[in-house]
Amino acid sequence: MNKEKKTQLKGLTLSELEEFFVSIEQPKFRAQQVFNWMYNHVSFDFSDMQNISKELRNILAGSCSLKALNLVGVQDSSSTGTKKYLFETHDGRKIESVLIPDEERNTLCISTQVGCPLDCKFCATGLMGYKRNLSVGEVVDQYLLVAKDVGKDKITNIVYMGMGEPLINYDTTLKSIEIFTHELTKGLSRTRITVSTAGIPHKIKELMESKFRVKLAFSLHSPFEEIRSRIMPINQKYSLQENLAALKIYALKTRTRITFEYTMLKDVNDRDADVKELSKLCSRLPCKINIIPFNSIKHMSPGGISAELEPTPHYAIHQFAEKLRNNNITVMIRETQGDDIAAACGQLAIKF
Ligand code: SF4
Repeated sequence: MNKEKKTQLKGLTLSELEEFFVSIEQPKFRAQQVFNWMYNHVSFDFSDMQNISKELRNILAGSCSLKALNLVGVQDSSSTGTKKYLFETHDGRKIESVLIPDEERNTLCISTQVGCPLDCKFCATGLMGYKRNLSVGEVVDQYLLVAKDVGKDKITNIVYMGMGEPLINYDTTLKSIEIFTHELTKGLSRTRITVSTAGIPHKIKELMESKFRVKLAFSLHSPFEEIRSRIMPINQKYSLQENLAALKIYALKTRTRITFEYTMLKDVNDRDADVKELSKLCSRLPCKINIIPFNSIKHMSPGGISAELEPTPHYAIHQFAEKLRNNNITVMIRETQGDDIAAACGQLAIKF
């Protein structure tokens, strides 16, 4: 009980920490010290903070918390080295992050919500429904607890592509980026951070106007409004055309390329008509396509359209990619990572 009443310092930005220390009549520079311990030295314990007097450390330990999540499980994929982490929140919710190794980098995929309200039909997280937004501390602790496990310098990239839509939990997403990229954190540059969105045009514009011009990935999944609306209900509210207009401005102003995420669904978005329409769409803005083989969500026992979705066969994925490349489009095929532990894209839902 007492623990919950403690002031949560994890997740505070530097200016918020300064306000906190001023409010307890301490000099502002204490904020820099604690910020550095929390986010650079990955400390979860005030006793580590040797440049702060013992007396103050004891006061802080009695009244403040440095931990927003508990790590309750880790699963390794034997085939790919992918690691899935299960965390518990103070109110007993469960969330997941996934560390995905690649030749030159290790990307940590983090969550911003418990569940997701957007109900994309191919996504296990969507099927579990929406519980609540995560706090900044809960987003940042996913990174810090994984960093404690594998070493901070082993995490080279962060993608906001786990559970939830980061642009719905916008302020939290932005503050966590501020912490990850702060010079005192000695962490990641903004070019190593990617926010993935299902498409909220006014928030894409807001992100562009912020100082955090991170990379943007857009969950496209169909170039046709009607099909996209069927598999991604958010498209009924914010159309593909509105999103493309916002993405084009984002790409041009930030001088980045938009990554279009494209989950291959048999007979839904893998036809020649899709190649043609995608090629037209891609000629409108700087972009590349990231093709994702559809991962089974049968472990969620889905109903409705979700139950009908099937993966495009491997050979047909490669043919589809080749046709796009012939139209001068940069295409990558994301090899399925960690599907043996339900940690692949669109599979995150609590079933450890
Ligand atoms: S794909 Fe992303 S936005 Fe869609 S339901 Fe899943 S987590 Fe939410």
